[in-house]
Amino acid sequence: MRYSELADLYRRLEKTTLKTLKTKFVADFLKKTPDELLEIVPYLILGKVFPDWDERELGVGEKLLIKAVSMATGVPEKDIEDSVRDTGDLGESIALAIKKKKQKSFFSQPLTIKRVYDTFVKIAEAQGEGSQDRKMKYLANLFMDAEPEEGKYIARTVLGTMRTGVAEGILRDAIAEAFKVKPELVERAYMLTSDFGYVAKIAKLEGNEGLSEVKIQIGKPIRPMLAQNAASVKDALMEMGGEAAFEIKYDGARVQVHKDGDKVIVYSRRLENVTRSIPEVVEAIRASIKPEKAIVEGELVAVGEGGRPRPFQYVLRRFRRKYNIDEMIEKIPLELNLFDVMFVDGESLIETKFIDRRKKLEEIVEESEKIKLAEQLITRSAEEAEAFYKRALELGHEGVMAKRLDAVYEPGNRGKKWLKVKPTMEDLDLVIIGAEWGEGRRAHLLGSFLVAAYDPHSGEFVPVGKVGSGFTDEDLAEFTKMLKPHIVRQEGKFVEIEPKFVIEVTYQEIQRSPKYKSGFALRFPRYVALREDKSPEEADTIERVAELYKLQEKFKAKK
Ligand code: ATP
Repeated sequence: MRYSELADLYRRLEKTTLKTLKTKFVADFLKKTPDELLEIVPYLILGKVFPDWDERELGVGEKLLIKAVSMATGVPEKDIEDSVRDTGDLGESIALAIKKKKQKSFFSQPLTIKRVYDTFVKIAEAQGEGSQDRKMKYLANLFMDAEPEEGKYIARTVLGTMRTGVAEGILRDAIAEAFKVKPELVERAYMLTSDFGYVAKIAKLEGNEGLSEVKIQIGKPIRPMLAQNAASVKDALMEMGGEAAFEIKYDGARVQVHKDGDKVIVYSRRLENVTRSIPEVVEAIRASIKPEKAIVEGELVAVGEGGRPRPFQYVLRRFRRKYNIDEMIEKIPLELNLFDVMFVDGESLIETKFIDRRKKLEEIVEESEKIKLAEQLITRSAEEAEAFYKRALELGHEGVMAKRLDAVYEPGNRGKKWLKVKPTMEDLDLVIIGAEWGEGRRAHLLGSFLVAAYDPHSGEFVPVGKVGSGFTDEDLAEFTKMLKPHIVRQEGKFVEIEPKFVIEVTYQEIQRSPKYKSGFALRFPRYVALREDKSPEEADTIERVAELYKLQEKFKAKK
């Protein structure tokens, strides 16, 4: 299958904002995709080469890309850089450079999807001495045979800047439409395996029946089960029917651990593979988890002086570190608090009641200095639960989780079977969708950010406020650099930004407001942290904002 067909799909997707049309375009494309490409095409459509949980990365920056294009077209690097200043888009400038190239070489071959993908794999796998040079040559080879538009989309895929507006929801519906299977079964299979390639293939070859038989697999992360808020421990207990398991809500980063013999993989909350960044934890897991094969879940916490927890950002710093990891092991010691188990020795446990899963977890884990079981109290007493909650806070934790004893594990679902209780109005994780250039000393920096909540029904990001405080100069410099490649449109001082980055925002209050389409506005919003562990679709939803508004009014009434 020619790559030009895929380029054509990207172009058509870019031209429409209609979700139904996008779904149709993707479905039509999947229908004509040959079986042997079906596992890779869904990711290419999303503008990715590999799923997020795959450890492989292309490791190609703008500079290297420009070099490759220059080598393939004979257009000097400097000219391409200058052209970016005019077009504002490296992809466009690459297309122009290819157009300028005098003539195609005699041996020129049209690009196929397979060839482009195989080249991406070679680029990702090039390591060690001279690898930059090899990556560049592989790319140049592609650009040599690429039509201008193909070059543009190859560049966007490599840099991760595709803007077709196709997110997971559209892909799921498109798979269902293309192969005439039930969307909820596609969703179920995806929640269990996080692998659209695999799901698309099963949908096509085995239909509804195959999809409903999809099982958890070691090496493919399960979408995490999530929680709703409760206003108090008492409310949570009532909601659970009078009895519940209360657990400390640790303030760290959630991880999912897959163990298969000696092989251990650790996935973050976003299901990215973070195994390499935490070798000492991996070692401890190997020793502590007794079965040959298992999938368990827990909260990874940074421990400070006297064993007190440190803010979750410390754990994220550990995840980010690629080199000199030993130094970080000492600086930021970690502890894993396990709270669930989904799979043991060939057997899925997600249909098992929570109380029995916990028993299983206790059986299979040998606690150690670094690996612990989440502290738990099963009770019918509101006083006991309240005391447990108070102690959790005194020890420096975030709050407590309440869990229904008879709840099965529901991948990807934010239901009422898990409830979280925290002392104050909680911060919101919101998506940056716009920004304004600063003034005076900060004129070259983006200074104030329009933030939005996610609406899962429409797939849109709905603004709820503008955040201008809480940033240091360094933060702003970093944000400007990070956001610039994702500017979609500029109008005066305002820029529209592709929804890609999630930040945690604190605020004094949520107000009803006609100013934004959401009907809500944050009062005194303040930046807290960049949530690299969340994708835009995982930001807080507009329903969550409404729910928090209700809780806040309830708190006010109590006071
Ligand atoms: P938050 O920003 O509050 O962590 P979230 O969207 O990541 O929210 P929620 O489902 O709303 O996730 O809250 C539960 C989160 O709390 C889990 O994702 C996990 O990271 C963390 N956590 C800490 N301790 C526990 C525990 N004992 N059981 C379950 N989750 C826990």
